[in-house]
Amino acid sequence: MEFLRELKRTHRNGELRPAHVGEQVVLMGWVANRRDHGGCIFVDLRDRDGITQVYFDQTVDPAAHALAETMRSEYVIGVRGKVVTRGGNVNPKLPTGGIEVAVEEAIVFNEARTPPFPINDRVEVGEDLRLKYRFLDLRRAPLQHALVLRSKANHVARDFMVEQGFLELETPILTKATPEGARDYLVPSRVHPGRFYALPQSPQLFKQLFMVAGYDRYFQLCRCFRDEDLRAERQPEFTQIDVEMSFVDQDDVFAVIEGLLVRLWKETIGVDVVTPLPRLTYADAMNRFGSDKPDLRFGLELVDLTEAASQVDFVVFKNAVAQGGLVKAIRLPGGGLTRAQLDRLPEVVAPYGAKGVAWVRIKEDGGWQSPIAKFIAPEQQLDIATRMGLEVGDLAFFVADAPSVTHAALGALRLHLGKTLDLIPKDQFAFAWVTDFPSFEWDPEAKRWIAMHHPFTSPRPEDIPLMDTDPGKVYARAYDCVCNGYEIGGGSIRIHQRAVQEKVFELLGMSEEESREKFGFLLDAFSYGAPPHGGIAMGMDRLIMLLVGTDSIRDVIAYPKTQRASCLMTDAPSSVEIEQLREVHIRVQPPAK
Ligand code: ASP
Repeated sequence: MEFLRELKRTHRNGELRPAHVGEQVVLMGWVANRRDHGGCIFVDLRDRDGITQVYFDQTVDPAAHALAETMRSEYVIGVRGKVVTRGGNVNPKLPTGGIEVAVEEAIVFNEARTPPFPINDRVEVGEDLRLKYRFLDLRRAPLQHALVLRSKANHVARDFMVEQGFLELETPILTKATPEGARDYLVPSRVHPGRFYALPQSPQLFKQLFMVAGYDRYFQLCRCFRDEDLRAERQPEFTQIDVEMSFVDQDDVFAVIEGLLVRLWKETIGVDVVTPLPRLTYADAMNRFGSDKPDLRFGLELVDLTEAASQVDFVVFKNAVAQGGLVKAIRLPGGGLTRAQLDRLPEVVAPYGAKGVAWVRIKEDGGWQSPIAKFIAPEQQLDIATRMGLEVGDLAFFVADAPSVTHAALGALRLHLGKTLDLIPKDQFAFAWVTDFPSFEWDPEAKRWIAMHHPFTSPRPEDIPLMDTDPGKVYARAYDCVCNGYEIGGGSIRIHQRAVQEKVFELLGMSEEESREKFGFLLDAFSYGAPPHGGIAMGMDRLIMLLVGTDSIRDVIAYPKTQRASCLMTDAPSSVEIEQLREVHIRVQPPAK
């Protein structure tokens, strides 16, 4: 039993082939499965490389056989033995299926309790249980596949960026707030009572300062922290491939990222990404798809009927138009929704503030079957049908509301129809650039302008005068990269002139004092020779999600948090000793009831 002191593992469990027959090997791993055939016990021995069948024959080594009788699932064992052929008993499902190992010596390194769920990826297990026992879930094939691919993608990205002349530079985690539109995670300072570090929402300012310092072409695989409400594709901390370059325009940034995507897709899943990627403006994306991150794998584009709707007597349409709203519609060729499915559509649009969605089915005689048919005169029906290209059997869906509501509601409806009717091709990647975003949007609650990307984004030079007169008309030199309905990256050409940056801060409602206090170092830097620069950050978790083909970010992160931002395995966040709080000058106030 002491053999392991002298012997090293010779192979991983996915390695042995018929060419190894006759060799003495030492294997180690977990008992994935054990079958007792009396005088002979078979064990599937697993490590992250694969599975090898080993057997303990009483007549070969009675001690090893006796030990194998005690083995249970997930015991950690080591075996020494000879590789033998399986002859006619080949298991075609395993790469090692042509051989097995006749065990001559064995050791149990550690026993294992019965796991709370089988380490068998065919068994569905609730996510909470999987998160609590993440170390067991990580043994299963889907997560292993995702993390192995993720490791590969990190290497590919680094290789590519370094080849392109980028420096991989690190930036602080304990830092000062960088606004990306989310809440900060704060860390209290022990040394400076009442003061706080913020965890970076991104390394935005540091990468810009690298440009000022002359470190043209920076990248980093970095962690970003944003305290926001979580959805399926969000985590409180996430990873970006963060990029910044000097003396560039938008096309230069696009070229680097397109090269990166080509390499990532080719080298991890063998898929060719065709470049240059299509581009569409923000306005086009909203008008045609109702979303600034359109899923371009399928059609069902929005049709603008505002003009036609202004002519009809139907009050819902009329009022919407009168109040500056939009009436838009989606044509679903061939119909294809049941009555019950139609009845459920209001639930799809309600979360976006839409008061409803009207539908029309075109009858055999070309007439309208629709709850709203009676409100719309036949010639107006014909006008709408012509504008939409409606044919017999088609369905059409209408939303009439404020522009943002109409777009959001129909954008969601479009995705719902695509999914429900299986119109979205799997295994396809529809990348695109979305460009020409507005610089600022009005926040009606805060009653002030906010930056649509972030405050360091350069307005189009020709729009700078509009900042004084009509900020809503200022366009930004900002861009997003989208794929299959996800925003997978975003960036901009930056402001590099102090006066422009000060003007933007002012527009965003920051007093001179406040901007000095928060961003004085950046403004200072801009007065010491800042080159024109720009960059982008790609969301690594979302890229991996796409490569793996899952729709949950938690499926590609080793130790993720729940939607309520807690870690079920470690129980973070947790309370701390009163003494620890005292050290950082904090007293906890229970939340008001
Ligand atoms: N800092 C930005 C973000 O995290 C990306 C960029 O503008 O480069 O979204």
